[in-house]
Amino acid sequence: MQPMELLRELSDAFGVSGFEDEVREILRARVSPFVDSVTVDPLGNLIALRKGKDSRVLMLDAHMDEVGFIVKWVDDKGYVRFAPLGGWDERIIGGHRVVLRTRAGKKRLGVIGSAPPHILSAEERAKPIPIDKMFVDVGATSRQEASDLGVEIGDPFTIHYPFGEIAEGYVTGKALDDRAGCAVLIETARRLAEEELPMTTAFSFAFGEELGLRGATTAAFRIDPAFALAVEGTIGADMPGIAEENQPTRLGRGPAVSVADRSIVVSPKVVRALEKIADENGIPYQYKLPTYGSTDAGAIHLTRGGVLSGIVSVPCRFIHSPVSTLRMNDFENTIRLVTSFVRSLPKSVL
Ligand SMILES: [Zn+2]
Repeated sequence: MQPMELLRELSDAFGVSGFEDEVREILRARVSPFVDSVTVDPLGNLIALRKGKDSRVLMLDAHMDEVGFIVKWVDDKGYVRFAPLGGWDERIIGGHRVVLRTRAGKKRLGVIGSAPPHILSAEERAKPIPIDKMFVDVGATSRQEASDLGVEIGDPFTIHYPFGEIAEGYVTGKALDDRAGCAVLIETARRLAEEELPMTTAFSFAFGEELGLRGATTAAFRIDPAFALAVEGTIGADMPGIAEENQPTRLGRGPAVSVADRSIVVSPKVVRALEKIADENGIPYQYKLPTYGSTDAGAIHLTRGGVLSGIVSVPCRFIHSPVSTLRMNDFENTIRLVTSFVRSLPKSVL
């Protein structure tokens, strides 16, 4: 499968935080040919293990969940009220089409509705609508009708824009944060499949990162790694109106090496090792400017007696909004950096 097709399959898969089963089964199928064993822990993390020369474990992490919403109430006119799962920019979620998954596993369409501007006062038009005033129109006229369509309290849904290439090598999808990281892990497993790995390697696909690094917390305890690398789809902000010093990463400049985010200050030893590997292999890279966002590395490095951890990210614009974009050359260079780094272990950092 071509890397872009893998990205398409993963971005289009349903995987709202806490409801990751569809994306997990795709990842299981994609990673299985390249590893010795695959397990799912009780909370839903998918952990694929491949034995290496050194029995100490390298944990490669990417989170498989995406930000979404959960049905909190269906009113007697059939309108759905909801709460966010993960951090959304609430100003821009109105007026989008959503895909809701019912308890029976059916996908249903809906629309996040808002009152038409014609009937709003000038004051109302100027203000963003708070999320607790928004609703989804699922095409029902009563609570019973919504229920007949399969829509119930607790159902997950998300805004769904299908994956597409909007210019050559420049793609858009709904869940590049962090299916880009998941795809990097799959590609890394594939490209290293024919060689002996220097360290036993756990490809860990975490649930619930967007709810507070939940999956990585238990996965790291279970895996008990000697070193961990989190791979993210992170904040690309090279766009009009944002000063350069406030752009955490910029598209087209290669993988972003984190020095610090809100959840971790990365050991300089790890940052230097990543720089060295990138330089030696002619891979362009940039720094993710401190200290924006949190990552699974924040949870992993605090596990047990402490785990030396780093973060490499694919820059993605517009994450935590209805659509995101990335450049395929950044994605490819992230795979190259992670693959080269795996080969350099344990000597490069341990
Ligand atoms: Zn993420």
